[in-house]
Amino acid sequence: ASSFAGRQVALFGLGGSGLATAHALVAGGAGVLAWDDNPQSVEKAKAEGIATGDLRGADWPRFAAFVLSPGVPLTHPKPHWSVELARAAGVEVIGDVELFVRERNARAPEAPFIAITGTNGKSTTTALIAHILQAAGRDTQMGGNIGRAVMTLDPPASQRHYVVECSSYQIDLAPSINPTAGVLLNLTPDHLDRHGTMQHYAGIKERLVAGSDTAIIGVDDSFCVQIAERLERAGRKVVRISRRLPLKDGYFAEGSDLFRAVDGRRTRIASLEGIGSLRGQHNAQNALAALAACLGVGLTAGEIQAGFGTFPGLAHRMEQVGRKGHVLFVNDSKATNADAAAPALSSFERIYWIAGGLPKEGGIEPLRGLFPRIARAYLIGEGAPAFSVTLGEAVPYEISGTLAAAVEHAAADAARDGGGEAVVLLSPACASFDQFRNFEVRGEAFRQAVYAIDGIEPVGG
Ligand code: ADP
Repeated sequence: ASSFAGRQVALFGLGGSGLATAHALVAGGAGVLAWDDNPQSVEKAKAEGIATGDLRGADWPRFAAFVLSPGVPLTHPKPHWSVELARAAGVEVIGDVELFVRERNARAPEAPFIAITGTNGKSTTTALIAHILQAAGRDTQMGGNIGRAVMTLDPPASQRHYVVECSSYQIDLAPSINPTAGVLLNLTPDHLDRHGTMQHYAGIKERLVAGSDTAIIGVDDSFCVQIAERLERAGRKVVRISRRLPLKDGYFAEGSDLFRAVDGRRTRIASLEGIGSLRGQHNAQNALAALAACLGVGLTAGEIQAGFGTFPGLAHRMEQVGRKGHVLFVNDSKATNADAAAPALSSFERIYWIAGGLPKEGGIEPLRGLFPRIARAYLIGEGAPAFSVTLGEAVPYEISGTLAAAVEHAAADAARDGGGEAVVLLSPACASFDQFRNFEVRGEAFRQAVYAIDGIEPVGG
């Protein structure tokens, strides 16, 4: 990151991406003073040659910028002390995505840059776009909120494609973000604990597409519809996608077919038929976004179709992990709220549903319409009592407590199901922190419990 060459930068947060960013800044010729509330992280940085110092006593006016790592509270309920100090001294507060953007704009502004945000589907869409580009032989770098921190990606070059997943937090700290194509998939209430109101949350997401040469926007929710209209009125190039409505202009899905519409005339340009990793309506939205973005950087429909066909999917997102007779075991641990659990519940029938953990506001009430697909529920974690009340008479349930007990009981009940394919589905509609370190660890625990079942045939990796 040479945009701060010869200048001083303060940095807070020395986890993985913070430390990588500190190294990148130093490599680019900046002077860095870094700190973290966790003494172990400070020690590690020091051992790697990064200058550290408690920023409370720092001489703030000498810093050209303050770089903040993901996870350090920016606004809500109140900013971290380090943010307050930087702002009070008039020092600009930015994140690693901003550093990347400045680097690209300085070194190779023509480098194709696709940025993805939204409430749900970000990682899937990011991985899908990167996979399609790579399969088509493009030089592709993927990172951001998924995989590698942006500052550890290969440096910008004119034919190098960047596919970057952006959280609200990263957008908030990237005032100059200007992707070639910005993707806004959808907006539903989540993370409101951190961003205050829905208006504020939507406003941050809107900034990503407002700064894009082309804004690709999912118009299946009212917030996104309004954003698309607003950008168009401002003279921006907007490409609409819809997973459920035939559009007059844009890209839409009907069943597993994907269409392009121009002035009311439709052409079928791709199909998701038989592609297991892109099963479900929600994945049609992700695939439409990928289609629009990849056509935008000059790929052919044939290249994109080929990429769809070989997409392996992501772990913990409706991932098929095993089969035993007529029972399929699906790991959707990433579904940490009701909205994210809805796609999996809509994609299967005769579901033996493992749910619970640390519940979000609203619990599983929004899923009521899908209850008829659930044969029985197995409730775990702190959310279990509240969820059992919502299920009430509508769905038979047990409070299993632990994930291991839930898998064991669900597998036994599903084996006795006589109605064709039965699915043991972990799609918890809850955060994992009451029982697990994160959703990945929860998903792994599910996988291990499934693998331990006598006679199971693992699916995939
Ligand atoms: P994110 O990175 O935004 O959290 P992921 O791609 O990791 O999203 O998917 C998270 C969860 O959301 C998965 O459980 C999946 O079933 C669901 N999901 C994926 N894509 C969408 C979408 N376009 N709309 C709604 N839900 C989705």
